[in-house]
Parts: sequence; structure tokens; C-alpha cells
Amino acid sequence: MKERSRTPHTKKIAHERIDRLFAQARDVFSSHPEWSNHYVELARRIAARQRVRIDHDFRRQFCRHCSSYLVPGNTSRVRIHRGIVVVTCLSCGKRRRYRVVKSVEIQE
Ligand SMILES: [Zn+2]
Repeated sequence: MKERSRTPHTKKIAHERIDRLFAQARDVFSSHPEWSNHYVELARRIAARQRVRIDHDFRRQFCRHCSSYLVPGNTSRVRIHRGIVVVTCLSCGKRRRYRVVKSVEIQE
């Protein structure tokens, strides 16, 4: 990549903003859960505009369908079934599945 391309730089900024928005979503959730959803929406919009991927960890923290911030036992329900994690969004009722990676401990 040539230096002239500004993409790597703007992407880095986008990542930082997304990081911060998810941190804020987590911080305000207990007092203002609806703000958390708003932060998720902003983060997704930044990701879409800058064509960056939302980090693996964060991607599991919101609903792809309605952008709700997902907190297990609160706004989402998490079940593990035959090595597949099933996350149900309690706002829209949609489910997402994730494979449990072998190295991940699921006993906790
Ligand atoms: Zn949802």
C-alpha cells in the first residue's frame, strides 16, 4: 500500500471510535439501556461507512437484526447446545449461532 492511500489511517480511527462506542454502550447499560442501543447503531454505521469489520468480541455484543446491545441474562439469552452457542435477542426474538471454538472454555 502506498502512503498516498489514506484508508489505513481512517480505518484505524474508525476502529478506535467503534472501540469507544462499545465501551460506552457497556458503561451506560445499567442506567440507560436505550443509549447502549444507540451507541451500537453509531458503531455499526461507522463500520459500514469505513468498511471496517467490527471486532470479533464486539460482534457478539449486539443483535444484527435490531442493533440491540446484548447482555446475557438481560437483553439476550445464551444457550449452548452441542457445541453451538445460540444467542437469542430478547428485543426482536432473532437468534444467532456461534460455533464454540475448542480453545474456549465454556464451563464458567
Ligand atoms: Zn434483535
